[in-house]
Amino acid sequence: MARPANTQSLVSTSLSNSKTNVEIVSQAPVMEERSSYGFFQTTTSQTLAPTTVEEVIAILKMAHRDGRKVTLCGSNMSLDTQSLGTDISMTLAAFDYIDVDRERKTVTAGVGAKWGDVVDTVRAHNLFPQVVISTRKVSVGGSISANSLSRWACVRGREGTHVESFLMVVADGRVLRCSREQHADLFYSVIGGFGTLGVVLEVTHRLQTISLDTCVESVATKEPRLGNLSEDLLPTDPEEARYMILSLSKKGLRKMSFRSRQGEHKKVKPIWLYKHVDWTRLVAETLAHIWMWLAHAVWTFSYFFHPRENKTYVSELVPYTFFTDGNVAARGMMKRMKMKFRMIEQTYIIPVASGKAEAFIERLVEMCKARGVKPMLFDVMYLPEDEPFLLSSTRGLAGFAVNIAFEGLEGQKLEETKEMFRILTTLCKEWGGRVHLVKNVFADPADLHEMYGESLATWQELKQVYDPQNTLGSGYLERIFDLNKKEDTLQA
Ligand SMILES: Cc1cc2nc3c(=O)[nH]c(=O)nc-3n(C[C@H](O)[C@H](O)[C@H](O)COP(=O)(O)OP(=O)(O)OC[C@H]3O[C@@H](n4cnc5c(N)ncnc54)[C@H](O)[C@@H]3O)c2cc1C
Repeated sequence: MARPANTQSLVSTSLSNSKTNVEIVSQAPVMEERSSYGFFQTTTSQTLAPTTVEEVIAILKMAHRDGRKVTLCGSNMSLDTQSLGTDISMTLAAFDYIDVDRERKTVTAGVGAKWGDVVDTVRAHNLFPQVVISTRKVSVGGSISANSLSRWACVRGREGTHVESFLMVVADGRVLRCSREQHADLFYSVIGGFGTLGVVLEVTHRLQTISLDTCVESVATKEPRLGNLSEDLLPTDPEEARYMILSLSKKGLRKMSFRSRQGEHKKVKPIWLYKHVDWTRLVAETLAHIWMWLAHAVWTFSYFFHPRENKTYVSELVPYTFFTDGNVAARGMMKRMKMKFRMIEQTYIIPVASGKAEAFIERLVEMCKARGVKPMLFDVMYLPEDEPFLLSSTRGLAGFAVNIAFEGLEGQKLEETKEMFRILTTLCKEWGGRVHLVKNVFADPADLHEMYGESLATWQELKQVYDPQNTLGSGYLERIFDLNKKEDTLQA
């Protein structure tokens, strides 16, 4: 779809102009099944796919009139139920235009555009996003609603920091341009707001300049112990990204610490994780899903053999950026073969100031060992204090993001792991941290209320102003914070 000629003209005139285009609303319902990325939750809903702003407004008006619930979805790659609807699922896949402004170094993309296409388009202009999600497949609408992060977030902050403005429709049909200066309440709550306050139509991101030879140099160091996280991960150079991959050994932990920076290179020698996805990667990723021990063996291999310690590897910028595409491709292939491999992933932010990140990780390792489970991925990075995005896990908090993912757990082991995530949430809360809401959330709602209490109260106030009938959302926030039950309890 081409970008509407003058999107600015939609602002404030749309209400009076909008013809109630009911055709799309009265179409025969297309019922579709959607699952979370980890395949734990599946719902069926009616898909509506507007192709114009007027149609978006018509759907919202119909939903308001008939008391329907509209869940927005991008690529449905959320780990939990953030985009799983049970009534209407609205997809803006048709809003896939990408408009580059070379002078201003910005890109304005429709929310249906996929980040892989955005990157390919801006790269042709020697531009690149500052911070971009790790798979080509995620949509612009999905990532802004998650205020995403990447390897570079430790020095550049999260996605929201680089958003200049966005255009959205609120539940009553008004079209608003939101930025730090205009409708700032919506700017700070819709970024990372999981599609609960309005329908974003397009987003303008600020970009960095690159050349076609820009690559990423990475150096790894290895140790059979955790050591001091601040030494490994706190940035000392604004151009250098630092992150850590951990794996469990019989004696305790194996640590690989990475430092990466952009540079100009003609010759490429990548770390395996940052190679283009080819059939060998696809086979390896698929087998690692089938035999969990293999995923662990990959990290053991990496620790002992590749990448070599203190050797500089050079990866192309795009495969370095989209390093989870192998996983996405393997899962896509398995899905087509009707195979469902389950995955759960939770991220905890432990404040740097608490000095407790090492103790948190040690507790996590003890708990994994006691339960006989080994993570498929266990990584740590530093995240600076975010701008005041309402539901951001790093709002007013600089911390270490401890991320842990498990594949293929079933039955008793799965239940024990969920319980482990809940216990760790309580510990995280006691040490002043927060659970990141973008991945899975297994947590006692009371702990989440302590972590997000003030922000949650503001979100509820905004909901009353912009969506008082609660037309928008998937019920995800209501579930994890137990909002409906709390209301019932209050009424009782
Ligand atoms: C393989 C993989 C790699 C990932 N890598 C990263 C990473 O590097 N960094 C990171 O931060 N996260 C990462 N994630 C998590 C991912 O960023 C989020 O799950 C993201 O929200 C998914 O976007 P999506 O396009 O699939 O949208 P969906 O899952 O369909 O939707 C996500 C959320 O956006 C809302 N939404 C969608 N469209 C709109 C709209 N037009 N207006 C308002 N709200 C809307 C939905 O309601 C929902 O709450 C990864 C996930 C996977 C599966």
